[in-house]
Amino acid sequence: MSVTVVGSLNEDVLVRVRRLPGRGETVVGLDAALAPGGKGANQAAAAGRLGTGVAMVGRVGADPAGDRQLAALTAAGVDVAAVRRTPGTPTGSATIPVEEGTGENLIVVVPGANAELTPGDADVEPVRSARVVLLQLEVPLATVLAAARSATGTVVLTPAPPQPLPADLLDRVDVLVPNEHELLQLSGAAPGDSSPAGLAALARTLGVGTVVVTLGARGALLVHRAGGALLQAPPPVDAVDTTGAGDCFCGALAVALAAGAAPDAAVGAAVTAAALSTTGPGARGALPGAAEVAALRS
Ligand code: ADP
Repeated sequence: MSVTVVGSLNEDVLVRVRRLPGRGETVVGLDAALAPGGKGANQAAAAGRLGTGVAMVGRVGADPAGDRQLAALTAAGVDVAAVRRTPGTPTGSATIPVEEGTGENLIVVVPGANAELTPGDADVEPVRSARVVLLQLEVPLATVLAAARSATGTVVLTPAPPQPLPADLLDRVDVLVPNEHELLQLSGAAPGDSSPAGLAALARTLGVGTVVVTLGARGALLVHRAGGALLQAPPPVDAVDTTGAGDCFCGALAVALAAGAAPDAAVGAAVTAAALSTTGPGARGALPGAAEVAALRS
């Protein structure tokens, strides 16, 4: 495998509301739509659109929502042979009321089958053989650690949702990809200096060889533990929805690293792909292909 993602698959239930409900309140939604989601599966879909030899390791329920998640990944070019079905436990879900006008939301996640992904599930050939293994924290930490231990290629971790990371996991991570908020949480720093030099200093306290801090519309900062830091700005795009931009970023970074790109070139490709992903709705509404990324970079 070129890239193997170990992580979550969710069904997102997006409900448009005029106003978010308060505690104990009922509001009537305008409409509801199902969308494939989960950080892991979003990263895999982005990688699948950009490259070949992309596999997903995860769990869904033996239910129609699980069928839909597998179909969506397969359509994005991802090998789902290592996604197991978990009878008796539903596919993970995220119910997301989104307020019209403001775009503000609430999110209720039910991990479902994602919580059943075991260390044994992650000790499999697609993880052992991958040039790049992509990890996040929406499945049990013991499983994330097992995947990092089984990997022989480059291990890339998005520390989201943020939580304290054990040293034996960080020791096995080659590239850590936090956003600014996650970087502050991990380093225990108070919000303050968000200059590239200030963020690079924080990133170097984490003890990982390479840290890539994603900075929204500012782009991404590549920080080497012993060496320099490089901020790469995104190309100009008309961003309409930044949901899942970080997931697209990681998928694109992994594909570029697996193809042998140097870290600065891989971050450049990821910044471009993530910018393109913001030009359509939802996490997977505008995932670019390799030709679109190349066209914008030439
Ligand atoms: P997350 O989605 O995890 O919070 P960020 O908001 O930092 O992460 O976004 C991830 C990446 O997506 C950024 O590093 C950048 O490359 C790209 N991106 C996000 N928002 C925009 C935007 N408004 N315009 C262009 N690129 C964006």
